Amino acid sequence: MSPAEEQSRQLADVFRATDRIVIFTGAGISTESGIPDFRSPGGVWTKYKPVMFQEFLDSEDARKRYWVYKKEGFPDFAAAAPNAGHQAIVELEKRGKLQALITQNIDGLHEAAGSSTDLIFELHGTERWVDCLECGRRYARAEVQEWLEAGTEVPRCESCKGIMKPATISFGQHLPEDVLTDAVVNSESCEAFLVIGSSLQVQPAANLCAIAKESGAWIGILNRDETPYDSLADWRSGDSAGEILSMMIELL
Ligand code: NAD
Repeated sequence: MSPAEEQSRQLADVFRATDRIVIFTGAGISTESGIPDFRSPGGVWTKYKPVMFQEFLDSEDARKRYWVYKKEGFPDFAAAAPNAGHQAIVELEKRGKLQALITQNIDGLHEAAGSSTDLIFELHGTERWVDCLECGRRYARAEVQEWLEAGTEVPRCESCKGIMKPATISFGQHLPEDVLTDAVVNSESCEAFLVIGSSLQVQPAANLCAIAKESGAWIGILNRDETPYDSLADWRSGDSAGEILSMMIELL
């Protein structure tokens, strides 16, 4: 048995014994769908300095810079389809084992794979929609991309001319309190908490695994690189998320 098969078997053994599993995902689950993670060299996320939320509100120039990188990053999102890792989580739900799916991702791929929206907690919002910050009118992100490609530099609401922003949480913006509360409650009450594809460096999201550990849950970390929380993990793998998760489902 290869080390990856052995790790998948161990994961399947833990998951067979419980139906209170919380999955916590980050950008690493979506790299196999072609979306670069935060740290990939050359990825759009590493090329531009992030625009802070207050800057975005205050300055037209900051809004211009923000939309330049949003425009450039969107084709990766639009072209991406869920991969074996996303599908394995859908399978856990079908088998009645998934308590909650907490994600830092904004790509909407869990929903696209077929995970139920009432189990998904998007801590950092979603790139699928753009909201008017004045009147709340919501636009499909793909529609706004067409405006950008036609030459609009800073989109404005068609109803009230208000400032518009994708429904994602920017640096300096508070996480939605209800979503964070639900994420904490699920982390406290689960029996197994598995991190998939996150460097666990963005707070407060990263600390959810420590909350789960303190509440007595088994902790697994499936991430290529080391994370600051590895020492509290009961199980760890640095292999590909898609590979380990699909083998785990076969063995479950
Ligand atoms: P991160 O980029 O900080 O870390 C991703 C981790 O995934 C890395 O440590 C890497 O080693 C690991 N990884 C990459 N591919 C993997 C694979 N196939 N199998 C296993 N591990 C793999 O991501 P983060 O912790 O999610 O934090 C980044 C922030 O940026 C988040 O807030 C997120 O909202 C945002 N972001 C989202 C997306 C997305 O929605 N897909 C993409 C980039 C960044």
